[in-house]
Amino acid sequence: MIGKLLSKEECAKCQICCSFDSTDLWETPVVTPELKIRILDDYPEMKFITKGDSFLFRMEKEPDADLYYCSVLDHKKGCVLGDEKPFDCKIWPFRIMDFEGKRVITLSPVCPVVKTRPLDEICKVARELAPMIYAEADKNPDIVKKYLPNYPVIISQKP
Ligand code: SF4
Repeated sequence: MIGKLLSKEECAKCQICCSFDSTDLWETPVVTPELKIRILDDYPEMKFITKGDSFLFRMEKEPDADLYYCSVLDHKKGCVLGDEKPFDCKIWPFRIMDFEGKRVITLSPVCPVVKTRPLDEICKVARELAPMIYAEADKNPDIVKKYLPNYPVIISQKP
């Protein structure tokens, strides 16, 4: 979805958005009930926890570190879900957040590749995606995260 900013090859090499520590577990992708059923068809061993009307992957902590890898991450090939990724992952590093009761589109400060892209290019892609991101948030409010000050706001008005 954001192929204009990130190539599949860059994402497969990096995988930073598919690993979490205990401070950013809130970033784990929201899985809709429909997607959960499709994932369980292929991976019946997958475990989930409930988030609102949706689900999150139940990830196992690495034994020697404060580190959690997404349950569907293949360390060699990348995400095993391919084009069936959760919406959160499709729009990464954009996020939709609740800023004082208003939904805003922000940019994660973590993605090392997008950081190298010109700001006007990032904003252009955000503007193109905004109608679809807002529509998805209306459909599934569980994807809306609490605003964090280190996430720059890229779009503040619902188009
Ligand atoms: S679902 Fe796929 S893209 Fe999303 S965090 Fe997990 S491995 Fe990464």
